[in-house]
This record gives sequence, C-alpha cells and structure tokens, in this order.
Amino acid sequence: MDNQMLVGSHFLEGEGAAQDIINPKTGEVIARLAEAAPAQVERAVQAAGRAFPGWSATTPAERSTYLLKIADAIEREADSFAALEALNCGKPINAVRNDEMPAIVDCWRFFAGAVRSMQAPAAAEYLPNHTSMIRRDALGIVGSIAPWNYPLMMMTWKLAPALAGGNTVVFKPSELTPLTAFKLARLLAAILPEGVVNIVFGRGESVGDAIIRHPDIDMVSITGSIGTGRKVLGAAAEKIRRTHLELGGKAPVIVFDDADVDAVVQGVRTFGYYNAGQDCTAACRIYAQSGVYERLVADLAGAVSTLAYNRADDSENELGPLISAVQRDRVAGFVTRAAEQKHVEVVTGGHIAGDRGFFFQPTVVAGALQDDEIVRREVFGPVVTVTRFDAAEQALTWANDSDYGLASSVWTRDIGTAMRMAARLRYGCTWINTHFMLVNEMPHGGLKQSGYGKDMSLYALEDYTVARHVMVNFG
Ligand code: NAD
Repeated sequence: MDNQMLVGSHFLEGEGAAQDIINPKTGEVIARLAEAAPAQVERAVQAAGRAFPGWSATTPAERSTYLLKIADAIEREADSFAALEALNCGKPINAVRNDEMPAIVDCWRFFAGAVRSMQAPAAAEYLPNHTSMIRRDALGIVGSIAPWNYPLMMMTWKLAPALAGGNTVVFKPSELTPLTAFKLARLLAAILPEGVVNIVFGRGESVGDAIIRHPDIDMVSITGSIGTGRKVLGAAAEKIRRTHLELGGKAPVIVFDDADVDAVVQGVRTFGYYNAGQDCTAACRIYAQSGVYERLVADLAGAVSTLAYNRADDSENELGPLISAVQRDRVAGFVTRAAEQKHVEVVTGGHIAGDRGFFFQPTVVAGALQDDEIVRREVFGPVVTVTRFDAAEQALTWANDSDYGLASSVWTRDIGTAMRMAARLRYGCTWINTHFMLVNEMPHGGLKQSGYGKDMSLYALEDYTVARHVMVNFG
C-alpha cells in the first residue's frame, strides 16, 4: 500500500515484472514490487503533459511557495525518511539523519529562493526602435532518472530545480532503492497540482528505456554510469533533445610534501569511505609526493583500520555495506586483481567482511601505478589507492589522465601551488585542503565522461530552463 507509483493524482501498483528490494546489511528481501508496465509509463508522460501548461504559467513566487511546503513536509518527517533510506541503502542511520536530510531540505529551500531571483529579464535596444528582452522559460516534461547511492538526495537535486523552472516531471528511482521515492510521492501528491510530478518504478532497461525514448519528453536528466549516459545520449539524438548527465568519477587527491598530513589522513578516512565509497566524488585516488608518501601510507592504514562498520549498534557505524552482492563482488574483484601485482601492497582491508549482507573491509592499496586498473577505473567501494610522485607536473598529468572529470583535491600549505593546480585540473570541482564538501549555492557537475549539466546552484536552474529572445518593434 505504501510503495505505490504516482501517476497524475493516482497511486498505482506496477503491472510489470516484479523486483525484490533488498536490505544490503542482511541480504533479506524487504519488499517485492512490480515495475511499471509500458502503458503506465505512457500514462505518466501524458499526465505530465497535461499538467505542463498550468504549472509553467505559475509565477516564480507561487512555485517558490510550493517548494517551501515540500521542504517543510520533508523536514517534519525527516526521521522516518532517514530510517527508510538507511534500511534500503544500508547506510548508517546517523549519516542519513545528520548529513543527508538537512542538505535535502536545504536544497528544496535553496531553489525556492533561487527561482525568485533568477536572472531578471534584461531589456535593451540593439537596433533602432527595437527592444529586445530575454525570457527564461520552462522546457516541458523532464524525464528524470536517479541512481541508488543517495536516492532521496538525487531525487531532490533533480526535482527541485526542474519544478522551480516550471517543468513537469516523470521520475524513476533506481530499481534497487525506490522506498524513499514512494514516501516522497505521498507528500508531493498532497502539495502539488495533479500531474506535476509522476513517479514510475522499474529497471533501467525497461522503464528507464521507455522514458528516455518517449517522443513527448523534452529533456532527460540522469545520474548514473557512463554506459547508461551513452544510452541516454543515443536516444536523445533521435529527437535532438536536451540532456543533463551526471556520470561517474574517480577523484584524484594530490598531496604535496608540505601538506598537513594529519589533515589529509582524517580527510581521506572520512571522504574516501563515506557511503562505503559509493560516491562519485569519493577521495579514492591519492597521489602522494615522495617526502610524505611513506608516512601517509602508514598513518592512513592505521586510521582506516579503525573505521567502524557492521556493528550491532548502528549508531557506532561509520560506513555500511555495498548496495548489492554484485557491487561487493565487483569491488572484491578489483582488489584481488590489484593484489596479484608485485608492486602493489594491500596495507589494510582487502576482503569481503561479515557473514551476511554485502560488506567489504575498508581498504588501502599502496604502490599502485598510473596504468593499473584499480587507479584508472571507478571502483565505487571502500577502496583508496596511494601512488607516489616526485614533481608537481607529474601529479597533474596523472590526475588529469582519466576518462572522468568530476572532482579533485589538492593538499598543500602553499597557496600558489594550490591555485596553479586548481587552474589546470580538468575537473568540475577542485577542493583545496578539503574534499567532498558540497553546498546548495555552488554547482556540482563534471567534465569529460563524467558528463555535463550542473546540479544545485543557479546553474542548475539555467540547465532546466531555456533562454528565449523576444523583440518588439516600437517604431
Ligand atoms: P546506472 O547507470 O546503472 O543506473 C542509474 C539509473 O539509470 C538507474 O535508475 C537505472 O535504472 C537507470 N538506467 C540503467 N540503464 C538504463 C537505460 N538503458 N535506460 C534508462 N535508464 C537506465 O548507475 P548506478 O549503478 O545506479 O549508479 C552508480 C553510478 O552513478 C556510478 O557510476 C556513479 O559514479 C554515478 N553517480 C554519479 C553522480 C554524479 O553526480 N556525477 C552521483 C551519483 C552516482
């Protein structure tokens, strides 16, 4: 009854294939849900289409009021959202309650404010007796597809700017983690006009595919893997449709000899293993200069070996399991293959952990080289590599030598070094003497195969709207 899709104003059971929803901490099935049948996806798109003229004609102030109500409703139920997210993703409850929920509520509030102050339409005369104006208009129906690593936060990052911009939405959560989306559906249906948001459940190859190919969808926004991003782009080519792609990452962490090593160790202990490393900005690829390399490896191994996981008292846990047995085994495969190389040393962790659920030990792999698979590919698990470098130029070349371009960090006490690196790192974000910190006011998004399009900030509002020119002849 609780886990139903939202199509127009109707809550529906799926009529497609059944999916098991698993608790990653135990491997137990917590729900069995049917995905949307093609006709149900069709109804969702039609509902969004019917809602669009009314919704896009609302004023920014009106939409802002809706978004503020959504923020308040989520905030009132933050504890039960957190419990559900922790159950479905295996996250430690404290991480969801204390870190994710406030950021989610703030994101709705940010876009409630941002839409009211979005670039005011400028008017000017560029020809005699002609006034030009810029309008920023909604695009139409946004097909929006989220991953499993931060289900409610990714849903928020997508819905808040899309709705603020005046679009209507057909949203699909990951087939692994739909529970908070179903809960949010109830709140949204009580607040928003019918059809403004529609939520359909199902796998990528069926329901996702139907969304990205639907001829009436005007924009597709997806957070997921590079392979899925390619499929979205392929489908978009048919209709020359706007896409917003947030794909993977493999964040380099460049540590110079003059860095505060204790701060690096604490930073990587936290931001390399947060969400069990299932984060596209995870601090996972360290390049340490020769003077600090040995100490960093030793101190990091010591610090990482104290990370708490799989404890009976969840409030003690600092990380949870991987999302699925498939992901855990994939992570284990990367580490096993790396460990077979003579130059590599697994200095802590390295193995599957626990007798149930999908846990993997927090792991540090030292001595990995630039061309090693574990340095080049996105592991998406609690695994950090450390590679030695001598000259800054070498670190910069290796850091940039990646298909990904989402996030990076530089650790040094020399502001000149930091700024020179920040200018030349080909990443959507460069942190200096920190890592991982995001704020709703600043854009998040990548370069290269990490995709394009920005989440959060006024830049996201631009991505979900179109600038149009209106010219008046008053001669
Ligand atoms: P995924 O690509 O397998 O799935 C993401 C979403 O796309 C899911 O909802 C899935 O059902 C859907 N999907 C899969 N195939 C599809 C298809 N053919 N057509 C339409 N939809 C399809 O990725 P995932 O395993 O869920 O998430 C992990 C990936 O997401 C990692 O690569 C990670 O780096 C990336 N990620 C990126 C960001 C970012 O901001 N750049 C944030 C979180 C996760």
